[in-house]
Amino acid sequence: MTAYITHPDCLRHEMGPGHPECPARLGAVNEHMRAGGLLEELLCLEAPLAEAGDLKRVHAPAYVDLIFDSAPSEGYARLDPDTAMNPYSLNAARRAAGAGLMAVDAVLDGRAVNAFCAVRPCGHHATSRSAMGFCIFNNVAVAAAYALEARALARVAIVDFDVHHGNGTEEMFSRPQWRDRVLMTSFFQHPFYPYSGTADPAPNMINVPLAEGSGGAAVKRAVETHWLPALEDFKPQMIFISAGFDAHREDLLGGMALIEEDYSWITRELMALAARHSQGRIVSLLEGGYNLSALGRSAVAHVKTLKER
Ligand SMILES: [Zn+2]
Repeated sequence: MTAYITHPDCLRHEMGPGHPECPARLGAVNEHMRAGGLLEELLCLEAPLAEAGDLKRVHAPAYVDLIFDSAPSEGYARLDPDTAMNPYSLNAARRAAGAGLMAVDAVLDGRAVNAFCAVRPCGHHATSRSAMGFCIFNNVAVAAAYALEARALARVAIVDFDVHHGNGTEEMFSRPQWRDRVLMTSFFQHPFYPYSGTADPAPNMINVPLAEGSGGAAVKRAVETHWLPALEDFKPQMIFISAGFDAHREDLLGGMALIEEDYSWITRELMALAARHSQGRIVSLLEGGYNLSALGRSAVAHVKTLKER
């Protein structure tokens, strides 16, 4: 069974008129799942609120406290040029991180083989000490650290296929204390926001920068040449996915050219790897994706594949 974890609070966070990271994104994902008849076939769960202690495994305690104190009672509190909080954002951010925690538990306790967290705000740009690029808490990092520290896994992999480099996740897990226990693999458009990912910060980071316009063939090459051999050697006990769908060719925020079938292919490759090393365990969390139709269709392709097992 595949778990589908979300929460209505994630629809209440919004950052001002015209902002691309809008509630309608999550609405589109939910609606495409429903229209595709998928929801009845998934284990649908409501995300809990992550506690401060769970967030502080990867975020500086002072940053977590600052966010808990920053939620405005009306209007917006600006965190960075692209990221803001409205009165509902704190709960949405805690639910987004909480979904990942619940997904780890559901998979490790055998309620589900794998899980998709349909959440916002997204997370992979959030660093240990700062909100950035629409992200408040680094949801995938919070979940991975929970699996390692609270659920006693020895090694986990984080795979990031968002069009943007997951600089926050990289910053957190480049640290010596995590290097032997976390392998991160990603591809991303380069040069492009956030203009990181090419400096090779640590041996546990497998980064593949791709030129604007890159499509399925380039991505398959990157995955087969760089990701899969490293993942195969590492033998992760659980695979996390930063599932951004903004590398889709219809997504104009990004400049890559993937289609739904490419997301199915990546998902299938990761499932084959997870079957060999991780008892099939995959926890996937929504990151970017700003063309509502392409986002909905790509998320369906991804979840349909997860469910195929
Ligand atoms: Zn993105």
